[in-house]
Amino acid sequence: MQSQRKFPRTFSFEFFPPHTAEGVEKLRATTRQLAQLKPKFFSVTFGAGGSTRERTLGTVLDIRAQGYAAAPHISCIASTEGNIRDMLQRYKDSGITHLVALRGDLPSGLAAAGEFRYANELVAFIRREFGDHFVIEVAAYPEYHPQAKSAQDDLKNFRRKVEAGADSAITQYFFNADSYYHFIDECEAMGIDIPIVPGIMPIGRFAQLARFSDACGAEIPRWIRKKLEGFGDDVASIRSFGLDVVTGLCDELLRNGAPGLHFYTLNQAGLASTIWQRLGL
Ligand SMILES: Cc1cc2nc3c(=O)[nH]c(=O)nc-3n(C[C@H](O)[C@H](O)[C@H](O)COP(=O)(O)OP(=O)(O)OC[C@H]3O[C@@H](n4cnc5c(N)ncnc54)[C@H](O)[C@@H]3O)c2cc1C
Repeated sequence: MQSQRKFPRTFSFEFFPPHTAEGVEKLRATTRQLAQLKPKFFSVTFGAGGSTRERTLGTVLDIRAQGYAAAPHISCIASTEGNIRDMLQRYKDSGITHLVALRGDLPSGLAAAGEFRYANELVAFIRREFGDHFVIEVAAYPEYHPQAKSAQDDLKNFRRKVEAGADSAITQYFFNADSYYHFIDECEAMGIDIPIVPGIMPIGRFAQLARFSDACGAEIPRWIRKKLEGFGDDVASIRSFGLDVVTGLCDELLRNGAPGLHFYTLNQAGLASTIWQRLGL
């Protein structure tokens, strides 16, 4: 873990682009509330295949218009080089200098297509076409990506993104700090020398968390799962227990040298800001 201590801490919050005018208003209020915590940036997700292209850009521009730094996610699956170049040019013309570059997942039923197969190809393309204009974040998986052939292959594939020019990484969320420490040690042994910021998922609703976790391969440890299941529909107890678990995780990660935290907010300020206050950040 030593290698991560040298990087300055970066705190950030992730949003998805709202679908409705009401969602846009709510997100503005969430942004204002979280901005008081002075994060380095807000990031905005991107629907694979370009389904949220306009809303992602619109949301990023809206956050910037409120006076805060924002980074769009961009995914390359099912896209052509032409589409991606145009989108990057629009980002550049809009004054955007920070991206989260991903492969993305296609909705089931759609065959994978497009000129990019993996995120390392996207990172290389961005560097080739736009030089150092963008700061590029990529995704990392302490519990390994669900489609990885093996843990070893996944690490090598992560290194490909770093070698292609990624500046830093944000992890998939996890509840087991050891997976992160082990991942960092493995990266260190492979000579990977970029900040790898833990992605943090506050616990609000169990059914939703279980669904996300099954889909993305993030493990909910049995003791946490059993406890959450036992609360049934008692949302207050789920939130209270979840706050204790996730605050404890964040505290331990920071004490052990994690270079910041990236919160998956689901467009809600409450849980993330409570965790933040409890951490005394
Ligand atoms: C911080 C974060 C933000 C995210 N934001 C979004 C978002 O906005 N929109 C969205 O749709 N999804 C998002 N995702 C989910 C992400 O798109 C999926 O996890 C996707 O399945 C993988 O994307 P990746 O960029 O990690 O892919 P990659 O790094 O390309 O890896 C995907 C898989 O392919 C393997 N692989 C990689 N490179 C190679 C190679 N060269 N040869 C062979 N195998 C290879 C890897 O081992 C892995 O199993 C996000 C994930 C994270 C952690």
